[in-house]
Amino acid sequence: MDIQSKLAGHLQAIPRSGIRDFFELVIGRDDIISLGVGEPDFTTPWSIREAAIYSLEKGQTSYTSNLGLLTLREKISEYVEDFFHVPYDAKTEILITVGVSEALDLALRALLNPGDEVIYHEPCYVSYSPSIVMAHGVAVPVSTTKEDGFSLKPKALAAAITDKTKIVMLNFPTNPTGAVASKEDLEGIAKLCIEHDLIVLSDEIYSELRYDEGEHVSIASLPGMRERTILLHGFSKAFAMTGFRLGYACAPAPLIEAMMKIHQYGILCAPITSQAAALEALKGGRELYEPMKTEYHQRRDFLVDRLNAMGVDCHSPGGAFYVFPDIRKFGLSSKEFAMGLLEAEKVAAVPGDAFGPCGEGFLRCCYATGMEDLKKAMNAMERYVGAL
Ligand code: PLP
Repeated sequence: MDIQSKLAGHLQAIPRSGIRDFFELVIGRDDIISLGVGEPDFTTPWSIREAAIYSLEKGQTSYTSNLGLLTLREKISEYVEDFFHVPYDAKTEILITVGVSEALDLALRALLNPGDEVIYHEPCYVSYSPSIVMAHGVAVPVSTTKEDGFSLKPKALAAAITDKTKIVMLNFPTNPTGAVASKEDLEGIAKLCIEHDLIVLSDEIYSELRYDEGEHVSIASLPGMRERTILLHGFSKAFAMTGFRLGYACAPAPLIEAMMKIHQYGILCAPITSQAAALEALKGGRELYEPMKTEYHQRRDFLVDRLNAMGVDCHSPGGAFYVFPDIRKFGLSSKEFAMGLLEAEKVAAVPGDAFGPCGEGFLRCCYATGMEDLKKAMNAMERYVGAL
């Protein structure tokens, strides 16, 4: 049987992730320092783990409401209003999901008809384009540049809008560049979305991890935007809870209801143990993530200083836990540079083109790695670029 020919056509058009290819070379090798995987090196804070254990001890092993535990939705509503300055009704406007990953997929599937276009800014998280295609949409990337701080400029967005555009996807702070959008740029983007009657899908998973002056601004908080924005957030990054697989979507009730239909039939509900843990995370809030954030901040400054000092041009990203140095002057492609670094010095970083063609000439180094390893990795990188 020719199984390949049985696979859904739109799936065949999706390439394997560039990150996956690269990391298959690294898996199982403990002689390598990895700046690769975008996952906190911290273990989930103890009070959160304890809440999960306690929930199991109490015998909480059932399904929950499809939307998620009401107590957790109420706490999310409070947290989101306090942090993002946008009010959402806990009963009808919040859906608890299996990570932001599921929320993103639900939003796209709830909104897209075949052929609808989704604009997003590149370099970007590797799953955006495949998620759009799997929901039968058309992926329309807009390149961003180092000169623009890898932020989406309203002018570039305006040029990409057509009469088929339905959604604009945003991710600030950005994976893989750490970019943060200015309030002026967000206002410009918001104006265009209102003028063209577009929905915004705003993935703000790194929003607590902002290091410089000024607080995080959610596009949902700008005038006229709450009614057309799906705000996605979760627990993986700030609270170091990747394995709990918990996220949420906040949006007007009809959108949440549509996403809930897909969630209800496909997933039923997010795991109750993870929901109990998330409740504790939000009770602890800032006190729990602030020590990790302080550490990330120090690591960011260390990497940016070391890279620039060794002659690798690296802007200082405002958020998330990635630096995105410019390696163009070495005359190697991102893949050649990354493979060479791996072979010569046993340091793994991700070639920038894994995040879209405009990431070519850059490298993503994740600093969710302990300081000792970061120091070793920077010494190794210095030897490597010195020898090029
Ligand atoms: N969105 C972005 C921008 C990410 O970088 C990631 C994970 O790396 C996700 C979503 C997925 O998050 P979750 O663990 O909540 O599914």
